Amino acid sequence: MANFFQDNPDLQFYFDKGVDWETLVRLTEGDLKAPGAHASVAEAVEFYREIATMVGQFAAEEIAPRAVEIDQKGVVLKNGEGVLPEGMQHIFDRIKELELHAMCLPRDLGGMWAPLLVNWLCGEMIGRADVSVLAHHGFHGGIALAMLVFSLEEGTTEWDPKKLTLSRTRWAEQIKEIGRGEAWGSMDITEPDAGSDMARLKAVGEQDADGNWFVTGQKIFITSGHGKYHFVIARTEKVKNPDDPMSGLQGLSMFLVKAYEDLPDGTRKRIVTLDRIEEKLGHSGSATAALSFDRAPAELVGKRGEGFKYMLTLMNNARIGVGFECIGLCEAAYRVAKAYASERRSMGKTIDQHELIAEMLEDMEVTLIGMRALAVESCFAEEMFRKQKLMGDERSAKRWAKIARRLTPLLKYLAAEAAVDFSRKCLQIHGGNGYMCEYPAEKLLRDALVMPIYEGTSQIQALMAMKDTLVGIIKDPQSFVRRQAQSRWRVVAKNGLDRRVTKLQIQSMNVQQFLLARTAGDKAKSLRDKPISEWGTEFTKNWDPKRDFAYAMLHSERLIRLLINESIAEILLAQAKRWPERRDYLERFLDRAEVQSRHLADEITTSGTRFLERLAERKGGETSAKAS
Ligand SMILES: Cc1cc2nc3c(=O)[nH]c(=O)nc-3n(C[C@H](O)[C@H](O)[C@H](O)COP(=O)(O)OP(=O)(O)OC[C@H]3O[C@@H](n4cnc5c(N)ncnc54)[C@H](O)[C@@H]3O)c2cc1C
Repeated sequence: MANFFQDNPDLQFYFDKGVDWETLVRLTEGDLKAPGAHASVAEAVEFYREIATMVGQFAAEEIAPRAVEIDQKGVVLKNGEGVLPEGMQHIFDRIKELELHAMCLPRDLGGMWAPLLVNWLCGEMIGRADVSVLAHHGFHGGIALAMLVFSLEEGTTEWDPKKLTLSRTRWAEQIKEIGRGEAWGSMDITEPDAGSDMARLKAVGEQDADGNWFVTGQKIFITSGHGKYHFVIARTEKVKNPDDPMSGLQGLSMFLVKAYEDLPDGTRKRIVTLDRIEEKLGHSGSATAALSFDRAPAELVGKRGEGFKYMLTLMNNARIGVGFECIGLCEAAYRVAKAYASERRSMGKTIDQHELIAEMLEDMEVTLIGMRALAVESCFAEEMFRKQKLMGDERSAKRWAKIARRLTPLLKYLAAEAAVDFSRKCLQIHGGNGYMCEYPAEKLLRDALVMPIYEGTSQIQALMAMKDTLVGIIKDPQSFVRRQAQSRWRVVAKNGLDRRVTKLQIQSMNVQQFLLARTAGDKAKSLRDKPISEWGTEFTKNWDPKRDFAYAMLHSERLIRLLINESIAEILLAQAKRWPERRDYLERFLDRAEVQSRHLADEITTSGTRFLERLAERKGGETSAKAS
């Protein structure tokens, strides 16, 4: 019987030993004292393994065989409602039977209370079968968890960290309803004029004299937007400073809007209009909806003006989910390409024996290993952060939050770009056949192309990583200097793989230092026209990101690739030290990463100045043309 878990030794490695289950299970289960807790860590991990084995079989035998039908038929709009294709409906009926939507929900709310990491490792297998199924699946349990996390944040859920029980939960009924597979939700942020730039959002939230809230506006590109529960971001406060492009973020609030009422006769009364289900290049089982809200009754989440904060709360988790989704797609592309290349013959041998193709395949294999290691580490950190916070250990939570925040954009960037790269290579390896719909390669490429766009584009991930890295050094220069000194010492003291990883770290830190020095230099240049008496304030305050960080912004995609190489090398080194069978992966990863990082460092430190001068001239020209 086909099984996407049992045929994947690297996935199994994480269930066998590659995760610190002892820590995660004890934290999740209140040191095994929580009501309904597993009797031991081993028992819990065995249970997770059983779930993974079941999902692996379900993905291979029930989802993958329906992927072509789902791709061809897609979700369609009929009488104002989104209708799933038959195969997709079958899959979701089965997910309901298997109770997978409730995998991570608390037992008090009808769930299994399994770690998020288990959910996403299973998600990878669903993504391998069909990413659009995973996307829609994610908007069930994911939205139920969002309800729980938001209500914990705003204090409307009462949680006892000693007894590990919930005594009161805002939206408890809705969470249970979703857990049972009877509803799902969506996250409605994007509008026609506002995607990456959330400060430009126009939908409004208004309150009447009795204190009731209503949302009015248009939202587009909403995944699973044909569902019942919508977290909607809308403007409740006026933009304070129209000249500041970020000012608009402060006036946003988060709402929960119910899109329809279920009537006793089994019909629905729609409150929010489903305008369109988009026709798109791929991802056909995942509905992408356009919606109109016309004074739709809404529940405010938290306080007014905190919408952006609530969105950030969920961002890491959602991006980690997309990371695993991309890994699933990459796994599929790698396997399809490898199988084809081992059969197709050219010039006296199978094409996997030709150097160029063999290198592509090896590159894919090593990237997959590194990417999964990064994904597991990111997810573990995010989960530790959430659960330590729940247990009231703020200090530990803060430490894990920092790691999760550092790793998440790296994962989202790498996995999304790899999804496109893998599926493009997969198609290329198939030659002319790859371009034909009869083979799976073209669908993988169509499905992959959205990954670097949704849940924050690749450019936005790169900018975030750059900003966090440089601002982190500015805020705490001592620890940066300490890390530099430690690395310089380690590079002399250590040898072998340790030394090679340390060299990558040094290279990355040198580049970070270069970018900081360059940024400070550009800022200093901008002060030339100001009186010296103002230099102190101007240098420490009044940073204009567009002007002062221009050089770092230009190189942020190169910087994020350097940071990715450094982080994966560190994680694989830690694995290799504990499990010698992982050494080979690290060696092969380093063989490639060292060359790439050298090239990236060279590009960052030697190119871009003249381009930025040309860009500034062009902008200057545009401004004076406008003025005249
Ligand atoms: C299939 C699909 C599903 C989606 N699901 C959802 C959903 O569930 N909920 C939701 O709210 N939204 C969803 N979206 C919307 C998605 O999040 C946005 O498309 C995305 O954030 C990009 O916004 P945009 O399309 O307006 O592009 P823009 O923001 O206009 O960006 C266009 C290009 O400019 C680049 N760019 C923008 N600003 C900068 C900058 N400062 N520096 C460098 N480059 C920049 C971007 O990287 C991109 O390459 C979905 C989109 C798709 C395609």
